[in-house]
Amino acid sequence: MKLENLKTDGELVLYFIGVGSALATKHNQTNLLIMKGDDHVMVDFGRTGPEAFHQTTGLSPYDIEVILPTHSHGDHIGGFEQLAQMNKYVGIPFMGKPKLKMVVSVEYQRILWENSLRGGLEYNEQLAHGRVMAFTDYFDIIRPQWVEHKPREIFSVDVGSISLELFRTNHIPEQSDSWSGSFISYGLSIDGRVFYSGDTKFDEELLDTYADHSEVLFHDVQFFPGAVHAPLYSLNTLPSKWKEKMYLVHYADNYDEQDITGFAGWTEQGHLYTFKD
Ligand SMILES: [Zn+2]
Repeated sequence: MKLENLKTDGELVLYFIGVGSALATKHNQTNLLIMKGDDHVMVDFGRTGPEAFHQTTGLSPYDIEVILPTHSHGDHIGGFEQLAQMNKYVGIPFMGKPKLKMVVSVEYQRILWENSLRGGLEYNEQLAHGRVMAFTDYFDIIRPQWVEHKPREIFSVDVGSISLELFRTNHIPEQSDSWSGSFISYGLSIDGRVFYSGDTKFDEELLDTYADHSEVLFHDVQFFPGAVHAPLYSLNTLPSKWKEKMYLVHYADNYDEQDITGFAGWTEQGHLYTFKD
C-alpha cells in the first residue's frame, strides 16, 4: 500500500518497509516506519532501506526526517550512510529539507559513529581549520532519557506525539545469556501499546514485562535453534494469550514452510497497522 506522505489523521500507524531477515531475498530487511499525526520515526534503515522505502511507500527517502537505530548490524543501519549523504548534499541545500534527526543514546552514538559510520562520513569534505566531519555535522540528536529503577536498561523519549520506550535486548554474541552481557541492541515499546522486539534471542523475562499490556507484539523469529534470534519452537511455548496477538517478523525466505498456528500471523511488508484510540 502506497503512502501520500508520512502523516496520519492522528492515529498511530506502523508500516514495515521490510519484514525479512538479514539474509532474506524474498522481502526487504526488517525496518519499521512509525507514524502518528505529523510525526514519524524510521526505526532502522538497512542495506535494502533506500530502495525498499521507495518501493513500498512510493515516497522518497528524502522524506525521512527522524531515524532510530536499534543496533549495528547492516540490515539495520546499512542505509544510514547513504541517507546522511542524501540529506546533507542534496536534501538540505537543494530541497529545503531539515537536518536528519537521530534518536540515540550517548553510549550508542559513540559506538555507531566510531565503529560504523565514521569510515564513510568523516572525510567527505574538509571543514574550517581542517576539521574533519563529526556525527553532529550530519545528525541532530534526540536524546532518550535513562529510566531509573528498572530491572534492565530502559530509555524513554517522545518524538512529537510518539512515545517510545527503548529496552536493551540480548541479541549478540550468541554466547551471551543476558542483555547486560551483550552488545547494545534495543527493542521498543510504542505508545505503551505495541511491543517491537527488535533483534533478540528468546527472552521470556522481557515478554513478562511487556506482553500483557501490549495490544500487539511484533517479534523477530528464526527457524532453527541457537544463534541470535528467537527460535520459533521457543516462541511456541509462550502462553496462547500472547501468541494470538504476536506477529512474527525478521523472517527467512523459507517462512512459508513453517507452521505458525496460534500466532497472529506473519508481519506483512507494506501493510498499514493502524491503532485507533
Ligand atoms: Zn541483528
